[in-house]
Order: sequence, then C-alpha cells, then structure tokens
Amino acid sequence: MITCAVLLTGRYFYKGGYTAREWGICLITNVLNTVVTYVGFWLFSKGWIVIGLETSWQILVDFIFLFVAMDLLMYVFHIIIHKTFLYKAVHQLHHEAIDPRPIDLFVLHPVETIGFGSLWLSLLMVYGFNIYAIIIYLVVNVIFGLAGHLGIEPLPEKLRQWPVIKYLGTSTFHHDHHQDLQHNFGFYTSIWDRLFNTYR
Ligand SMILES: [Zn+2]
Ligand SMILES: [Zn+2]
Repeated sequence: MITCAVLLTGRYFYKGGYTAREWGICLITNVLNTVVTYVGFWLFSKGWIVIGLETSWQILVDFIFLFVAMDLLMYVFHIIIHKTFLYKAVHQLHHEAIDPRPIDLFVLHPVETIGFGSLWLSLLMVYGFNIYAIIIYLVVNVIFGLAGHLGIEPLPEKLRQWPVIKYLGTSTFHHDHHQDLQHNFGFYTSIWDRLFNTYR
C-alpha cells in the first residue's frame, strides 16, 4: 500500500514509465520490507520490542528522537556502504539512477533493504517508543523518501533557506547525492553531513 501511494503520488511529478527490471526489484524490496515488519511484530509479541500507548507530550519527544536517531544511524550505514567493498556489491544498484525517479526509492539491493530494516528494528528494541510517534515517523520517512527521488524540487529556493527547512533533507539534497557520490549521505537532515564535512 505504501509503495502504491508513493508511486501514485510520484506520477504527479514523473509521467514516464518504469522498466520490468525496476518493477521486479521494487517487488523484492516490498517483500523484504514486509518480512522486516513481521519480524518487528514477532519481536513485539515476544516482548523484545515494547511500545507506549499514552497520548501525551511523549509523542513529540519520541518522534523527534526517532527522526534524529534514525537519520544518524542511516547516515553512518550509508557512509559504510559507499566507502567499502559494499558499494560495488550492494549500493551501486541504487546509484544506477543519476536522475532518480519515484520508483528508485525501492530500487535497492536486498542486503541494503535488510540493513535499513535491521537498523530500524534495533532502535525499536533499545527503547519503548510511543506508537503514535512511530506512526508519524513512518509517514514522515515515506514523505522524505519520495521527496528525495522526485526528480524535481517542489520547494522554492527561498523557502529552502528558512531556519529549520534549511537543515532538512530536501529533494535537491538527495538528488545531489545521486549526482555526486562523495556528498550528502544524510536522509532527513543535512546536520550530520554539515558536522562531518560531507555536505554539498
Ligand atoms: Zn548513496
Ligand atoms: Zn537515492
């Protein structure tokens, strides 16, 4: 359902078609993401993942924590799959797209999909996040993923210079990563790239 929502929204920006190979990889990514979700549910049923149900300020705190922590974990993971043998073996597939389009969000090597999924489940195992924070985070994650692979920049240049937006991973931010493999390894924000001098 999430993939359909991304691709249908993406059609508004990208009218072209996709190849059978892209559809095939997209399907495999979906199966693996579903497996990750079921593993998460299994961990939850066994008590390894604890989820808070209260509706309080905790929702906002947990969401911000998930957003920043996942951004850092994925930044580190992304650097590793770029700077080691894993680039050729795994991540190069995603970088076949120099001008990414919406489906490229799902054009990932299975190892990469499992890697991101493992980071996600590991984080959920170290702390009992609030369920509403998790849901908001998952929606935001998809929005950023789609934005990064839109192929166009929907936000005007001026808006992108606004105080908080300036530090967010915009369409241009991830599109630039597809054009220049040495920069912009972050996903939701540019703060780690700015801190570790990989920002362009
Ligand atoms: Zn990359
Ligand atoms: Zn990408």
